[in-house]
Amino acid sequence: TSAQIGVTGLAVMGRNLARNFARNGYTVAVHNRTSARTHALVEEFGSEGEFIAAETAKDFVAALERPRRLVIMVKAGEPTDAVIQEFAPLLEPGDMIIDGGNAHFADTRRRERDLREQGIHFVGMGVSGGEEGALHGPSIMPGGPKESYDSLGPMLEKISAKAADGAPCVTHVGPDGAGHFVKMVHNGIEYADMQLIGEAYQLLRDVAGYEPAQIAEIFRTWNTGRLDSYLIEITAEVLSHVDAATGKPFVDVVVDQAEQKGTGRWTVQIALDLGVPVSGIAEAVFARSLSGHAALRDASRGLAGPKASPLSEAEAAAFADRVEQALYASKIVSYTQGFHEIDAARAEYDWDIDLGAVSAIWRGGCIIRAAFLDRIRAAYDARADLPSLLSDETFAQEIADAQDDWREVIIAATRQGVPTPGFAAALAYYDALRAERLPAALTQGQRDFFGAHTYRRTDRDGAFHTLWGGDRSEVSA
Ligand code: NDP
Repeated sequence: TSAQIGVTGLAVMGRNLARNFARNGYTVAVHNRTSARTHALVEEFGSEGEFIAAETAKDFVAALERPRRLVIMVKAGEPTDAVIQEFAPLLEPGDMIIDGGNAHFADTRRRERDLREQGIHFVGMGVSGGEEGALHGPSIMPGGPKESYDSLGPMLEKISAKAADGAPCVTHVGPDGAGHFVKMVHNGIEYADMQLIGEAYQLLRDVAGYEPAQIAEIFRTWNTGRLDSYLIEITAEVLSHVDAATGKPFVDVVVDQAEQKGTGRWTVQIALDLGVPVSGIAEAVFARSLSGHAALRDASRGLAGPKASPLSEAEAAAFADRVEQALYASKIVSYTQGFHEIDAARAEYDWDIDLGAVSAIWRGGCIIRAAFLDRIRAAYDARADLPSLLSDETFAQEIADAQDDWREVIIAATRQGVPTPGFAAALAYYDALRAERLPAALTQGQRDFFGAHTYRRTDRDGAFHTLWGGDRSEVSA
């Protein structure tokens, strides 16, 4: 017998992905650098389906039916290159290497190019949803050559998460690094979503005066509306959890320093390279770094803040409704920014990416799964060349309805000294985009003054320079 798919790299992700394939009826060849993991998998889970345990790379490749489909699930970076170098010489034209790790999309582009010369199809595949997703159905974002999807796609559709309407949460995202790029932006958006939820929580606590258990109830209510999402749901769970050792709310005994694995940071770094303003995602990444600066925070605790004025019970309830509006409006903005980044990459790398399809495959199996994503899909379905999500009539109307509350929430936060970088950055982005005139005109004037960088005029074509050091007459540049 031969295997329809092989998985090498059997830590939590690879093991669960291999089990997922096997549970769906595929024969799976399994391999790991340290073969103890391979045997442990077959021993523990062999009854779940058909596995072929391979000790060596050669045995592993020999176990695969042609064209071979070989999934790599190892540590991203150099280990992935090492594994590719080990297997590529054993493969033949038409075979497929599928990298399911969290690769940087630029590495995926390089690997795809190198392997293409050898006739090997390299598929950089974003896999979301952590180990639970890998086992029960992740959201899958494969890139690479389109023809690879013909044979790989049906298998991925089988093992992927399914959205509420039954659609598999996988699609061929685009060529070479497009899949890993979209996975990266997904993580950036996840950072932003979590930051916005965090700000909502702190406002409800410090401005409205609610306790964590009460805030959990508020989130539960929100979760029945337009904010219905996995992250809101687990937020309520975390907030209602009580620490067994102390009897205090769990959230009060956890050290308030957030960690990160790096994909959010990549999203911002690459956005800077592409010139795309992803301020909401950037603020989320910065908020995590700020939280980790323990010494700096200690040194700053004595700095002056405003005098707090607590809200009455009725005011607090009204305020909570406003926070829901602010959260929703800010969420629209952060998704707008994330999709702008994907759109910019599409232009930069000549990728054919269907933005509506991307939002559709995030509806299940991943951390940002939410009812909201159906709305984004509808927006792009209605108009594929939508310049921005904010140009969609429904979203524009929702923000129009939310904006007074959104502004009030940020005013209240500012007055009470509660930091809301996510809400505020989102609003600033919104106001900047809709502004008739921006102070960028003044920036251009300053640049021309100190560096003769020239400027364009609103009334005539061409580039101009004012003789600032002379008679201040204008010359064509
Ligand atoms: P790890 O990232 O911890 O990687 C461990 C695996 O990599 C082991 O199988 C290990 O083999 C193998 N490995 C490391 N270095 C080498 C090398 N030089 N040559 C051969 N094999 C090597 O495992 P995870 O399961 O957590 O993640 C796998 C991939 O999936 C990573 O790229 C990760 O970023 C990505 N991912 C992880 C998610 C998660 O929630 N954990 C979610 C989505 C993606 P050995 O047993 O011999 O040490």
